[in-house]
Amino acid sequence: MQIQLLPSSFDSKGGASPAQRLTCFVIDDRVTIDAGSIGIALSDAQQTTVRDVIVTHPHMDHIASLPIFVDDLFGDLREPVRIHATSEVIELLTADVFNDTVYPKFDLLKNAHGHVMQYVPFEVGREFKVAHLTCTAVSVNHIVPTIGLLLSDGVTTVAFSSDTAETEEFWQLVNQAKKLDALFIEASFPDSMEGLAKASKHLTPASLRNELSKLNHNGMDILAVHLNPAHREKVVSELNQLKIDKLQVMEPGRTYEW
Ligand SMILES: [Zn+2]
Ligand SMILES: [Zn+2]
Repeated sequence: MQIQLLPSSFDSKGGASPAQRLTCFVIDDRVTIDAGSIGIALSDAQQTTVRDVIVTHPHMDHIASLPIFVDDLFGDLREPVRIHATSEVIELLTADVFNDTVYPKFDLLKNAHGHVMQYVPFEVGREFKVAHLTCTAVSVNHIVPTIGLLLSDGVTTVAFSSDTAETEEFWQLVNQAKKLDALFIEASFPDSMEGLAKASKHLTPASLRNELSKLNHNGMDILAVHLNPAHREKVVSELNQLKIDKLQVMEPGRTYEW
């Protein structure tokens, strides 16, 4: 399984810069988890193969350029872009994004080949398929309805916390998996900003360490993501001080493989 965190900001030479402002993970060039930078940073080849998008929650950093992605492909699509989300999140996307004010109701529009976008609801706690992946979602602890995910291609199993403060169900789900190859967990703010992290329902390095104590698996790669760009250096240094085996900060643009 190949997983890339799409970059959302670029250095003077056009390469990915370390700051992560938007969230979009590309899996095997086919499926994305969230869609923050999907409309600005997919390669031309990925644009032709990504047709399934799992939306964990409707915050802007997770959906910012999703409308642009569908718009760009409008005339070329031979199958719809499928938006996989809970009914709750689909209702929010319908009301607040694809509402004919902010952007067109793409789910109602067709090109010469058929529909261009389709909502595909899933239920928390129940397994569902997205392309070649078997997925299970559970609610996590964020300020809007948000899901964490466990995904498998039959060989490799990975888990994504999405945006969350301290949570229980997600760890129960992950602990049920026979094995875990990689865990993607958020670390938004430094420990000194614990108050803001609590109010906005995010983790700090200290609370991340506490969350990891609920995990029964050992030996997997742990990739810290969603570091607030304004406090990135501090969060990186605090994560390093935790001295947790195989914990690293995920680099935007790099393709990781398991
Ligand atoms: Zn969020
Ligand atoms: Zn976020």
